[in-house]
Amino acid sequence: MNWKRREFIKLTGAGVAGLTLSQLGLRLDTAKAYAAGLKTAGAAEIQTICPFCSVGCNIIASVKDGHLVSTEGDPDCPINEGSLCAKGAALLTMTNNEHRLAKPLYRAPYGEKWEEKDWGWMLEQMAKRVKDTRDKTFMLKNAKGETVNRCESIIHFGTSHMSNEECAVAVQAARAYGLVFIDHQARI
Ligand code: SF4
Repeated sequence: MNWKRREFIKLTGAGVAGLTLSQLGLRLDTAKAYAAGLKTAGAAEIQTICPFCSVGCNIIASVKDGHLVSTEGDPDCPINEGSLCAKGAALLTMTNNEHRLAKPLYRAPYGEKWEEKDWGWMLEQMAKRVKDTRDKTFMLKNAKGETVNRCESIIHFGTSHMSNEECAVAVQAARAYGLVFIDHQARI
């Protein structure tokens, strides 16, 4: 019998009128006892799309008490049929990750230690260094004397952890600086 996942879940929930799993010869006692202990027990399932590349694999996100508790490939999606690559399989760690940095860290040139800095200090340093580098290296014309107005000394490297809207703003800022080397981690 070829059931879709969601149809199976409905069948194992309140039951389908006129038809029960026991009538199909399946015993649910063990499965129910196991499911009750799962972290996804009682969680709402939300269908979403993996943000990491343009393949667009579908993901089922399980949310419980306002927290994301699980992500898994959607078996009903014709693109990925439930499978995910290593990046998509690690999607949960995008929000739940004890190693995720919560404060800016700074390491001075030739330094060996990371120091905690506040965002004000960090943003000021970044702005100052970008401006200094751009001012020193900005090219008005190329070797042929053609106007180019570009900055080749700074590379902008994006991340797939940004949303489409964040990417749009970041690229507009990079173009405004005159950057021409702009790439994205999802292509690696
Ligand atoms: S990163 Fe992997 S899981 Fe995510 S959309 Fe691309 S192929 Fe699919």
